[in-house]
Amino acid sequence: MPKSYPQALTSIEIQTNLNIVRTQIKAACNIANRSAESVRLLPVSKTIPAERLRLAHAAGISILGENKIQEAYNKWQILQDTPLKWAVIGHLQTNKAKYVAKFASEFQALDSLKLAEILDRRLQHEGRSLDVFIQVNTSNEAQKYGINPERGEDFLRALSVYSSLKPRGLMTLAVFSADQIVVRECFIRLRQLRDQLQQIHPQVSELSMGMSGDFALAIAEGATTVRIGQAIFGTRLKVTDRH
Ligand SMILES: *Cc1c(COP(=O)(O)O)cnc(C)c1O
Repeated sequence: MPKSYPQALTSIEIQTNLNIVRTQIKAACNIANRSAESVRLLPVSKTIPAERLRLAHAAGISILGENKIQEAYNKWQILQDTPLKWAVIGHLQTNKAKYVAKFASEFQALDSLKLAEILDRRLQHEGRSLDVFIQVNTSNEAQKYGINPERGEDFLRALSVYSSLKPRGLMTLAVFSADQIVVRECFIRLRQLRDQLQQIHPQVSELSMGMSGDFALAIAEGATTVRIGQAIFGTRLKVTDRH
């Protein structure tokens, strides 16, 4: 049974949910013997209308994660009068790279060198650089995006020619399962790959893993960014693509 989360429709309600999530992050950090500052909370606002995101900003949120580029771009345009920053966390088609290059402060779903090349060209054109996370398919599911972990080393080496892209870490979506052991295996795989890559590329330090349903487990395995939507804004009624 998926958990249900209360809808947050006012700034106060968003703040209340944020406080609960932050307390849970702290508790997970305590158990894992980590400092609470070692985990960044990235609120995920997909399907939430722009006007409700003004309330999120009023509740203290400064960055939002979106998985669909058109939706993200529209919200950025509507909310340009706020200092909100945008993290694009979902799969991107190469013909949409130009949008990300215009406004995103980070991109967490880099999964092909073709996309890297086009993104870099667009970023040069905009005079911008972009923090990127390489998406890794840690569950070996055919329908999931992300590179195969074995390609990590070669992929990262090939990225070095794209000077506007700043590789910061790895991102994954764990298998969607009630079995904590298989979920945990995905997180462990991502951490092991990061540890391996970091020996040559010290700047690749971040692990973006963990969502509303599994962030405590992700923190136990070393997550440095957790991407949380429903636990902050409420259960999404609409089914959205999780890849
Ligand atoms: C939707 C989404 C999340 C957040 O999921 P919740 O269940 O709302 O916490 C995290 N990462 C990605 C890539 C997503 O698309």
